Order: sequence, then structure tokens, then C-alpha cells
Amino acid sequence: MRVYNFCAGPAALPQSVLTEAQRELLSWKGKGMSVMEMSHRGHDFVAIAAAAEADLRDLLGVPANYRVLFLQGGASLQFAQVPMNLLRGKAKADYVLTGMWSAKAAAEARKYAEVHVVASDEAHGYRTVPAFDTWNLSTDAAYVHYTPNETIHGVQFNYIPEVDAPLVGDFSSCLLSEPLDISRFGLIYAGAQKNIGPAGIVVVIVREDLLGHTLAGTPSMLDYKLAADQGSMVNTPPTFSWYLSGLVFKWLKNQGGLPAMAAINQRKAAKLYAQIDSSGGFYQSPVSKTYRSLMNVPFTLMNPDLDAVFLKDAEAQGLVNLAGHRSVGGMRASLYNAVPEEAVDALVSYMQDFMKRMG
Ligand SMILES: *Cc1c(COP(=O)(O)O)cnc(C)c1O
Repeated sequence: MRVYNFCAGPAALPQSVLTEAQRELLSWKGKGMSVMEMSHRGHDFVAIAAAAEADLRDLLGVPANYRVLFLQGGASLQFAQVPMNLLRGKAKADYVLTGMWSAKAAAEARKYAEVHVVASDEAHGYRTVPAFDTWNLSTDAAYVHYTPNETIHGVQFNYIPEVDAPLVGDFSSCLLSEPLDISRFGLIYAGAQKNIGPAGIVVVIVREDLLGHTLAGTPSMLDYKLAADQGSMVNTPPTFSWYLSGLVFKWLKNQGGLPAMAAINQRKAAKLYAQIDSSGGFYQSPVSKTYRSLMNVPFTLMNPDLDAVFLKDAEAQGLVNLAGHRSVGGMRASLYNAVPEEAVDALVSYMQDFMKRMG
């Protein structure tokens, strides 16, 4: 039996995608071998890779002057790869801090750049997005980096910041959850294991004119231009993760694309927040209402002594991976595309029942 999996990452994958991969596991399209056993330079895998890129471009409406890269090292390597490639002779980069991931990105960038913190909610424990009119943007920054959805703190931007320097976004936990205007960005990146596919791939979408100015000493493997020129196959790519991500893109198109996913995701999150807000304080959300994440919903119990029993009883009912991140505690439900609405309904009904039993 499949459980309802609210894991923040690696996260749930659509069941029909897994079934399709299972059907094709031993012999992909009658070729007598698994995708895992194919040459990445062979005709079949090159076609799989090209279809994945075409479908992703189609889903997001990626403009022609942007390159789509399928890289390795996760989102965490992007924390270094972004400054290595995008400083382009400048010294400074602007960072907006709204949670642990943006703070980590800024800390890594400090190895390469003069990091200027434009705005930070750290002093309040990362519960909101600092008002845009208080941001202290530099005039000489090579780029502005922010994290539109903070996976751990559950803080999500409801707008794309309007800045002069190229805008860089870490979309690891929200890419493909709703339509996105790529033309507003210099670069976006997203580790696959939240809302795209299995771990091992990070998707980078970058405006072409920003390529080709890497810092001296940048490893070839970390040069976006080289990756773009060689079809993201500078070395052997994680072929199976790439293939499975491609199946997810097809699945998303069959669901009606990103507008359809956005409607479902809004409904799912609204149901869970409504349950939290109507519990008379039994359940609490730490995040300011305007910036609550649709993808990652942290919540606490009025009585934290009940956390362990809440999690244990949930698991017994097939509702798993609801523990909050070790740095913040409490609970967290991640509601990515592959988490069906029935999972949220089951969680809400469990929360009502638990409150009746304990309240
Ligand atoms: C998970 C996550 C990361 C780190 O991803 P890795 O692929 O494990 O390096 C970075 N940023 C955000 C927003 C994330 O959710």
C-alpha cells in the first residue's frame, strides 16, 4: 500500500510516473535494456534528454534566449556556481534573507563575492518577507539573489521583485507549482528532488547573455557556458533522474500544465491553513499570512508535549514524514504537485480527530 507522503525532499513522485518507469525498467520501448544501461551519447538517451527539455520549456514558456541546463551537485552547488559564473568582473552581489536556504546561499557566496544583505528577517526567526520598500539594494551588484519559497520556514514570496541587476531565484521547492514569468529573471535554479523528479539533477534556466564570464579558476564542470554548449553532457549525467524528470514533465502536461497545478495547489494549501486557523490555537502557523507557502506548511501544537504522539498516530494512519525540520521543530506538511488532494483531506480530517481526542 502507498502512504500519503508529506516529505520535504526527496519527496513524493506521481504514482503513474512510477508505474510507467516500472513498466519500462527492464526494457525501454522494446530496446531490451533499461534507461540506466544506455549510453548517454546514444540516439535513444539523447532523444529522452531533448524531450525533457522541450517539455520543460513548454510548461514554463521559457523564452528562446534562455538556456535550460540539467546539472549535478544539487541546489547547494548552485550557491557557489552562481557567483562563479554571474559576477562577470564585479565584486558585489545582493542577497535577500528570508530563511535558512537563502542564508546558506549567501554564506557560500561570501567565498567568491562581497555579499551585501539587502533585507533579512533573521532577527524575527524568518516569519515573513521584509517589505520591499525597506530593501537596501546596491547600485553596483552583479545580481540579486533570493529564495522565493523557503522550504524549512514556509515563507513564500507572492510577487517577483522588480530590480535592476539580473535577478536570481532558488526555486528548488516551488518550480512547476504555478506559472512563472522566466523573462523576469537572469537565472533560476531548482534541485529536482522536491517538485521535479528524483535527487541527482538540478535544473538551471539562464539568460544566454550572462554566460561566458566565469571567475578565474572555475572548474570546467561548473562553467554554465560549457554545459550549455555541450547539451548538459560535459561528463556522464545522472541519466535515470533526467529520464524520470522527463516523465514528470509529461505528467504535468497531462494534468493541464501549470495553471491547473496552481489551482490544485492553492486549494490544497487553503484547506490545511483553514484547519490550522480554525483550531482556536490548538494548531498554529508561525508565518505571516501574506507570505505563507503553498508548498511547505510548518505548524506547531499549542502543547509541544503532544508532538511525538501526533506524529506517531499520523504514521499509523499512513500519513508520513510530517516532522518539522530539525532546526525549527514542530510539524511540516509539504504539499508538492505529486501530493494528491486526498492526502490533504486525510491530513485535515486526522488533525480534526486528534484535536477532539486531545483538546
Ligand atoms: C532542498 C533545498 C536546497 C538544497 O538542495 P540540495 O539539492 O540538497 O542541495 C536549496 N534550496 C532550497 C530552497 C531547498 O528547498
